[in-house]
Amino acid sequence: MSSKNRLWREIPGYVFVALARRGMEKIPLDQCFLPGCDNNDINELEPFDIEEHDDDEKNIKIIKIKCHKCQGIFQFKLETLKKVAKKVGDSEEKPLSMGIAYALDEKGKNLGHIGYF
Ligand SMILES: [Zn+2]
Repeated sequence: MSSKNRLWREIPGYVFVALARRGMEKIPLDQCFLPGCDNNDINELEPFDIEEHDDDEKNIKIIKIKCHKCQGIFQFKLETLKKVAKKVGDSEEKPLSMGIAYALDEKGKNLGHIGYF
């Protein structure tokens, strides 16, 4: 398996965005998030680098993607918050996690919060 496929496995297939009055929308992440580019062909997107940090509260992954349509590079910043549910009665504590996805440009400038996974 190529490293390209391995990196796609680190990226959620889609995230959820809350819409004001229409519930939740699913946003696929196999698209280019650079302004002015409408590439949504996974074959034209190439994840090529990953950085990962971990601490007690969250796990952060930054994945760089090359877009072969606009020739730009953008990054996904995936923050997974680790939480522990409160004990209910005698039941065991279950770890919960919630993730937030951001898009960054090549230099790390935030292009915006994409959604939750
Ligand atoms: Zn692009």
